[in-house]
Amino acid sequence: MKRMVRMPKGSSYSGRLPRGCVLCEQGAKMVLLVTGRCDKECFYCPLSNEKRGKDVFFANERRVAGVTDVIDEGRLMDALGTGITGGDPLLEIDRTVDSINVLKKVFGKSHHIHLYTAQTSNRKIERAAKAGLDEIRFHPSLALWARLDKSSYARAVRLSKKLGLDVGLELPVIPGRGSELVSAIRFADEAELDFVNLNELEFSETNWRALRTLKFDVKDDVSSGVEGSERLARDLLRLDSSVPLHYCSAAFKDGVQLRRRIMRRAKNVKKPYEVLTKDGTFLIGIIETKDIAPTAAHILKRFSVPGELIGSNPKRMRLEIAPWILEDIADELEWPAYIVEEYPTADRLEVERIPLKRR
Ligand code: SF4
Repeated sequence: MKRMVRMPKGSSYSGRLPRGCVLCEQGAKMVLLVTGRCDKECFYCPLSNEKRGKDVFFANERRVAGVTDVIDEGRLMDALGTGITGGDPLLEIDRTVDSINVLKKVFGKSHHIHLYTAQTSNRKIERAAKAGLDEIRFHPSLALWARLDKSSYARAVRLSKKLGLDVGLELPVIPGRGSELVSAIRFADEAELDFVNLNELEFSETNWRALRTLKFDVKDDVSSGVEGSERLARDLLRLDSSVPLHYCSAAFKDGVQLRRRIMRRAKNVKKPYEVLTKDGTFLIGIIETKDIAPTAAHILKRFSVPGELIGSNPKRMRLEIAPWILEDIADELEWPAYIVEEYPTADRLEVERIPLKRR
């Protein structure tokens, strides 16, 4: 009987968890999207409209201009590793190789780097390995899952192993595709791969129409996971195979990986007037005004607010102030005032807004 290790939020694995996933679980992996371009057209591709098909470069939620910004983002979250993704990063091989080189140089050899790709080019795999890549995760198209041994992936995994990389498959668990998934796992077993990552199939803003057309549904009201995906993954984990299998649920990605990652960043970017919640978000008092400097001067003087508990955000045309102070003074203000909850990410995604004073 295979030993199964349960992880939070329904995830689990047999054998050994890939190193890339260990750091990801700790929230210590920076997500580096080197391009939104990809030459495959998987119907379940979850990539957002902002990224899909576009030549964009993101480190976590931050759009970056180059590797200097990438290093800055890595420092802000105390990254212990980086997951290079896309689109397909091997379509932007120069940017990928530059990133690996600089990340290893700045953060050291132990900074673990894994890369996701659907490409099998020898030359590109060799270049990434030479730059210092640690782990490669191949994502073959669904049409090939049942015959991977006869595909270019058989050669690509052999080469990757020869180059000293940890090698795995990254597959979405599509209900109704159990036999193809079993074939892919058998291939991984025979090719002595280091792991197979099985991801819960998920609805996203870009794939929901395709998934609905195929009659897929969400498994419950609070999850983006597809009904039947988790059940199939559990059956697959029980397969008699020696290749380590890892099932990663949609809830784990959001509730554990993302939450821990943003918590690491939050601790480093927190300002004295921001309150860090247990979810890793910030509570901030905001006062909306076009005249930031005179408004700030007025508030500092009238309410004797300590200077470090107030700040300006001209881009968003607002003053930011400790929420506990704003609650006390909002009634006496002539400007709209709110308590907002935001992610500590570069895009500062707003989660909630509570009005204290409307115009
Ligand atoms: S290979 Fe990956 S990035 Fe490319 S279309 Fe398929 S799921 Fe999307």
